Amino acid sequence: MSLLKLSQVSFHYTQESILEKICLDFFPQEIIGLLGANGSGKTTLLKILSGVLKPKSGEVFLKEKNLKDYSHKNIAKHISVLPQNLQMDFPFSVTEVVLMGRFPYLKSWAWESPTDIAIARSAMEQVDCLQLANKNIQELSGGEKERVYLARALAQQSEILLLDEPNTHLDLAHQTQLLQLLTQLKKQNKTLIVVFHDLNLANLICDRIVLLSNHRILACGKPGEVLTDENLTQTFGVSPLRVEDKEKGHQYFLPEISFKQKTP
Ligand code: ADP
Repeated sequence: MSLLKLSQVSFHYTQESILEKICLDFFPQEIIGLLGANGSGKTTLLKILSGVLKPKSGEVFLKEKNLKDYSHKNIAKHISVLPQNLQMDFPFSVTEVVLMGRFPYLKSWAWESPTDIAIARSAMEQVDCLQLANKNIQELSGGEKERVYLARALAQQSEILLLDEPNTHLDLAHQTQLLQLLTQLKKQNKTLIVVFHDLNLANLICDRIVLLSNHRILACGKPGEVLTDENLTQTFGVSPLRVEDKEKGHQYFLPEISFKQKTP
């Protein structure tokens, strides 16, 4: 059964079309990478999937029920989001930010229970930010904030996670940790829909990749089927250099740079 479904979804902010007739099904226990050039509509698509933006036409279904028939609180029990913009306008502590992930489960005016606090603590441990618990969120580095917001998403205990460029600010060790965490979450029956810029990370862990180009889905399928030179050139205007790791059977992508010297 499809957990989340986009049916003929189109969207525009102004007259200019952003997404046109997008049809996609997301299933339990898979990691789907959303790839495309800057401005191709990846973040917009995540916002439509989480109910923040409403499609101009077409429909979104969560567990076969129209997303517009869910309350925001109910959506948040099923879908959590790691946004691209990690700015927080108030000086909350890291613990307070992670505990926000428990809001969908709180009754009006109720405080978090010891169980909520234990869940938030465990989420902080999973992403290596427990040591930041008492710090002011506004005083953290980009990578630290990224891990805190990821902990908040985990504390929400939803079966679907929408992650918008989760590795952007992370150092090498934390990127490795992130990849391990995402594969672990998948084994725990989660569905992860992840916007990636890094073709290598997407290729390493995604079950399926969706390539957006020209407002539509150019390709959708296994990484090897989607990340072809033809598709990448059509999407990004350039094709990457490919490096094989024959031992591990992996392929890595690098930007190809020409070092040809200009003749005077
Ligand atoms: P991506 O995530 O693929 O980089 P976005 O979904 O963020 O792309 O944006 C798609 C297009 O929509 C871009 O051209 C962007 O400038 C435009 N856009 C995004 N948000 C808004 C907004 N709130 N109002 C008007 N245009 C927007």
